[in-house]
Amino acid sequence: MSNLENLYRQVIMDHYKNPRNKGLKDSEEYYSVHLKNPTCGDDLTIQIKVEDNKITEVYHDGTGCSISMSAASVMSETIMGMNLEEAKKVINNYVEMVKGEEFDEEMFMGDAIVYQGVSQFPARFKCATIAWKALDKAISNHENCSHRHDEEKIEVK
Ligand code: ZN
Repeated sequence: MSNLENLYRQVIMDHYKNPRNKGLKDSEEYYSVHLKNPTCGDDLTIQIKVEDNKITEVYHDGTGCSISMSAASVMSETIMGMNLEEAKKVINNYVEMVKGEEFDEEMFMGDAIVYQGVSQFPARFKCATIAWKALDKAISNHENCSHRHDEEKIEVK
């Protein structure tokens, strides 16, 4: 194992054992998405709070393998404070990276860069992306919801 792979493994185990932003909030202010990955048994819920087009809070909770649970913790730290456009770019870049496709290495990815090695294990793709897919869904729910409010306003007129 190279030093870099060893470092990556340490980062993953650290987030698995000491997850950041773990635990859900009981409030209507958050957009929540619950996803399951039956092939591995990963079961994850993420919550985001969006203020002025910016993700100001991210929480996650669930059970599953070290890859999926650590990735949720890493995702929450990486994405916190980003605006929605930035977050969507990072989601796409991350998914390309984990698939083993070309990705933008200059883009800020935080600790998420350590999941690069997952591209060598296609069976773990869903584990590494479940948190990011949930985030993507939460963002589109937020965006669709604002559209719905617009339509309601139009109908009232
Ligand atoms: Zn898994």
